[in-house]
Amino acid sequence: MAPPSPSPSTGLTRRRFLTGAARAGALAATGGALAPGCSTPAGRGAPRVVVIGGGYGGAACAKYLRRFDPGVAVTLVEPNSRYAPCPFSNAALGGMADAAPAPQNYEALSRRFGIEMVHDAAAKLNLDKRTATLAGGAVLRYDRLVLSPGISFRWNHIFAGYDETAAVYMPHAWRGGRQAALLESQLAAMRDGGVFAIVVPGLPFRCPPGPYERASLAAHRLKREKPRSKVLILDANEHFSKQDLFEEAWAALYGELIERVPISGGGLVSGIAPKQRLLRAEAGEFKADVANVIPFQRAGLLALEHGLTDETGWCPVDHKTFESSLAPGVHVLGDSCQAGAMPKSATSANSQAKVCSLAIIDLLRGREPGAMLYHNTCYSLAAPDYGFSISAMYRYANGGIKQIDQAGGPSPLRAGPAYRASEAAYARDWFASINADTFS
Ligand code: FAD
Repeated sequence: MAPPSPSPSTGLTRRRFLTGAARAGALAATGGALAPGCSTPAGRGAPRVVVIGGGYGGAACAKYLRRFDPGVAVTLVEPNSRYAPCPFSNAALGGMADAAPAPQNYEALSRRFGIEMVHDAAAKLNLDKRTATLAGGAVLRYDRLVLSPGISFRWNHIFAGYDETAAVYMPHAWRGGRQAALLESQLAAMRDGGVFAIVVPGLPFRCPPGPYERASLAAHRLKREKPRSKVLILDANEHFSKQDLFEEAWAALYGELIERVPISGGGLVSGIAPKQRLLRAEAGEFKADVANVIPFQRAGLLALEHGLTDETGWCPVDHKTFESSLAPGVHVLGDSCQAGAMPKSATSANSQAKVCSLAIIDLLRGREPGAMLYHNTCYSLAAPDYGFSISAMYRYANGGIKQIDQAGGPSPLRAGPAYRASEAAYARDWFASINADTFS
């Protein structure tokens, strides 16, 4: 590896900038020029995979590439040194301080698995030359590129008036971290007798049961702390994930406290006045005390800006390898991709990461990738000791990811309190295990 050299564009030395394996770096140069001899040219030496996005998809893919084939050099690009998980952020909103999601870090990925960790954002991809330029100016060369950049928001789409500035007054809290904390602080400060409104976008979006779990756990908190308040869901959809289970729980736990207006009842919001917290829907105008507006979504910006999405706003991929249908050599997984029957969830992203990493190794080693199984499990809490889930297995068939009949399914209706309590405990176990599987 070349000795540390100062970066003209960032002022960082390479030693400060990189952590992890001291192998010949993908980080070929700073200042936008490739330094000869620093990187492994495509097709010679150790094959190199650059993974962009250190969330549940990208971090797991980087880790499993190295686990399955330590001969592959892997660089993971992620701007943040700590990852703020979305799962269990609703629990924090609901006052379950003990369940609030702890930030994850990347130390184990570099220390245990020899992943070269680069904390910067990818700014520009050259899909022909197979390079990624980072915001700080460094250029990474790759043989295969993996993108797992999560979602981006469609500001002002349908929800006119809702943009990034509006999110300060009406947080979306649909990425972890600061927005989730802002929403929690607004709910904590809400008056008793206030209205907590949740505006739900049309599918597809990240975590389809998430808005309804949020409504449940907000209701749990309000029932205890501000019992004259109300949770109002204005929904751009008619039906939703685990609907029977949620509605059974709401009837048992919260009575009139939660009201949902589906699209057929006029629940589609078309105008928003953020400072006044006014929501204009077909059913009428609603004044909220706290409003959580979850915008319509599409693939992460990096994928959008590099022509990796189609008219849906999401990235079409080969379902066996997650290789982009629009750019050879680039794989897209997690929330950004179109994964057939699989919902956009952390478990899906993690499962896709494993399939994708095996396929990439096969492709790099000149083998035909085999067909795999995929899975998803999604727990929801309606209260701290009231959980339920849905799970599914998928297989590759007729060119796509198809759900396997009778493998999995939702929790039963009318299960007793002990059953619901054990599912709530399993939800916590699931969270601990997916974090361990992805980040350590
Ligand atoms: P992310 O986890 O968002 O990771 C994307 C990463 O890419 C980020 O770290 C970002 O910094 C990075 N990135 C973006 N652009 C760039 C760039 N240009 N350069 C470098 N890095 C970049 N799922 C479940 O399975 N179970 C649950 O219980 C659950 N609960 C949820 C609750 C809520 C409230 C929400 C909002 C989501 C929940 N999810 C849950 C969904 C889950 O969080 C997502 O599906 C999952 O995070 C998707 O993983 P990903 O890798 O696609 O994206």
